[in-house]
Amino acid sequence: MIATQTAVANAYRAGLVVPSFNIPYLPMMEPVIRAIVEQDVFALVAVARLEWIKFEAHSQAAVMAEFRRWQRPGYVNLHQDHIPVIDEDNLRVDYMADLRQAIALGYGSVMIDGSRLPLEENIAATREAVALAHAAGIPCEAELGAVLGHEAGPLPPYEELFASGRGFTDVEEARRFVAETGCDWLSVAIGNIHGAIAGAAKDRKKVEARLHLEHLAQLREATGIPLVLHGGSGVRRDDVLAAIKLGIAKINIGTEIRQAYEQRLRETGSVLAAQEACYERTTWLLRDYFGLSGTREMVTGTMDGR
Ligand SMILES: [Zn+2]
Repeated sequence: MIATQTAVANAYRAGLVVPSFNIPYLPMMEPVIRAIVEQDVFALVAVARLEWIKFEAHSQAAVMAEFRRWQRPGYVNLHQDHIPVIDEDNLRVDYMADLRQAIALGYGSVMIDGSRLPLEENIAATREAVALAHAAGIPCEAELGAVLGHEAGPLPPYEELFASGRGFTDVEEARRFVAETGCDWLSVAIGNIHGAIAGAAKDRKKVEARLHLEHLAQLREATGIPLVLHGGSGVRRDDVLAAIKLGIAKINIGTEIRQAYEQRLRETGSVLAAQEACYERTTWLLRDYFGLSGTREMVTGTMDGR
């Protein structure tokens, strides 16, 4: 079995990316893993705290149990996505308890999200999380800058946001953040946005986001660690492919496969049909959008996945 830390480091060096698919509904696990294996890609499946609170992932344990049913060592590992310190409703979270639980259950990597905190507090919370993860021998992702979209309420017009650079991860802050926290991967804000998770907006197509590639190049230079792109659905494709060459070694995909699943479920009432929609979209993303088919060996460094 390949450690997630090694896979992401290999992808970073090779100019490839490890896609990380969010599983807000447990029946999405099987079709996503099936597509990953068929396309011969190394990828992650992941659950964020809000997906067991606001969607139907149920719990960290339920996601791990479903993962174990379908897991294919050498192809796919389970990641604990977003454990926020302050959640999208502005409530304080017992983040260390959630992180401890993920580690106890055997998740292969975790993410602490202190991005709603002032810099000093984000650094302090992230250091604490990194120490916990490293004591368990797994990597810890962190976030700096504001990847907007999960919050309730309307976003300002996208072009306005992009042009102002508001919320972008600051280069000097990133340099200091990585040095002081020891985090393994950094989620950055460079024009990417999360899909909406509440109200009518959650079914709407996301605006096409762009990425500020010069800013990304500066972040790469300043941090020297694999960078992560959240809100990977609905970003202009040329920008995504360029970003992968500029240090984005993990990319989170949530909205795109969730909406495929939900929409088919609404239309047909059939979980089986919804799973097929999820499988088709995952296959399309891996093969046609990211062009990653057959790259598993380059990322895992193994012929047979062991
Ligand atoms: Zn995210």
